[in-house]
Order: sequence, then structure tokens, then C-alpha cells
Amino acid sequence: MRRKIIAGNWKMNMTPSQAVALVNELKPLVANEEVDVVFCVPAIDIIPAMEAAKGSNINIGAENMHFEESGAYTGEISASMLTDVGVKYVVIGHSERREYFGETDETVNKKVLKALEHNITPIICCGETLTQREQGITIDFVRQQIKVAFLNVTAEQAKNTVIAYEPIWAIGTGKVATTEQAEEVCAAIRECIREIYDTDTAEAIRIQYGGSVSAASAPELFAQPNIDGGLVGGASLKPDFGKIVNYNK
Ligand code: PEP
Repeated sequence: MRRKIIAGNWKMNMTPSQAVALVNELKPLVANEEVDVVFCVPAIDIIPAMEAAKGSNINIGAENMHFEESGAYTGEISASMLTDVGVKYVVIGHSERREYFGETDETVNKKVLKALEHNITPIICCGETLTQREQGITIDFVRQQIKVAFLNVTAEQAKNTVIAYEPIWAIGTGKVATTEQAEEVCAAIRECIREIYDTDTAEAIRIQYGGSVSAASAPELFAQPNIDGGLVGGASLKPDFGKIVNYNK
């Protein structure tokens, strides 16, 4: 049985003082020993959010990192900077980073390798546009993203990654993929991992669904055999996130 992992993606929201207030508000609401809970927050919020989360089940993660070790990359943040303060999760290749900041499957792969080198679990995002879904190429497209993201990643390393399937048309739009659509693609991703590696690796890897997850849609989505939790944007900033984390109660 894979342990569920439910992560919030705060995006560019919350000043450091707001972050502390939100962590304090959500701390009692997201207590659930059966689930790994991660808040992926803006870089400047990481340290204060960690302080506020002390003694709780909340893991504080990052929303992005650079693939180089260090150097002349103004404005970027490195894997060592994250591990130095105890970060264990980082979102890689979110569709907003791909759309607005030029991230490609190749840079995603480089970041995945760098995160794994530093024992940070990458939450690797993939997902199709509405046009791709309408053209019937969703699974081919997502398989391609996964194959490139995992280039040169060993089976042992792959077991410690998380994949977030996020159809772009469902992110921040209030349009949730149907349970069948989400399960179909998550199952195809697991099959792709099985083809790249083996059954052991495919069964170990955790695959999240993301895209307008709410307290109402979470229980059915997370009950699917190939959906091991969620990556949650908008609803992770609200008390509703507690209900999503406690989808099984
Ligand atoms: C996301 O940002 O990864 C996301 C899924 O956002 P939302 O839940 O708001 O659709």
C-alpha cells in the first residue's frame, strides 16, 4: 500500500507573516497520521513557515529550484540552500513554470537529477493542454514528458519521486477532471514507469492528481487505485485544505 501524499502549492501568495498565520491556522486542521502533508511555499516563506510548523505533521517544501549547484544565476535558489534549512520536497516543472518561465522537459530532467542528488523528493508535474486532450493525444504527450523527466534517474531514485498529473485545463479553473479521466492518465503514467523500470518501481512511485481539487472532489479522486493523493493550489490556502487532507475521515 502506497502512503498518500497531499501537497499544497501556494504559488506567489502569502508574505512571510501571512505564511506564519496560515500555517498556525491550518496546523490543527491538517493533522492526519495516515497521510504525508506538504506545504510548498514561496522561497522567502520557507524558514518562517518551518518554524511555525514545528511539532506538527506539516513538511515545508519549495516551489522550484535551479539545476546547477551554485554560481551566476541571479535570483535562483539551489538544492543545497534548500537542504541546508531542511527542505525535503520541491515542485519541479509546474505548468506555470513551463508557460511563464521557459521550463522544458529537459530542464525538468536536470532539476529532478539535482534534487535527487541532494536527497530532496521532486514532485514532478506533467499534464496536457485542453487542445491536446481534444486532439486525443493526452497519454502520448504525458508519456513523453515522463520519459524525458526520468532520463538517467535510477530505479532506486525513481521510487523516491512523486509525480503530479495536472491537466493544465483544470488548474485554477474550477474544472476538475472526472475521476475516470484522472485515473486513466495516472494509470498510464504508472504503466510508463513500469516500462522504463520494472513493476517494483511502478508500484512504489506515488502519483498525485492536481487541478481544482476541493473537499468535495478529493474523496473519490483519492480512492482511485492509481491516485496516491493530490497537488492542490487554490484550496491549499484555505481551511478547506484540512478537509482535503482528511478526505478519508
Ligand atoms: C496547482 O497549482 O498545482 C493546482 C492544481 O492549482 P488548483 O488546485 O488551484 O487548480
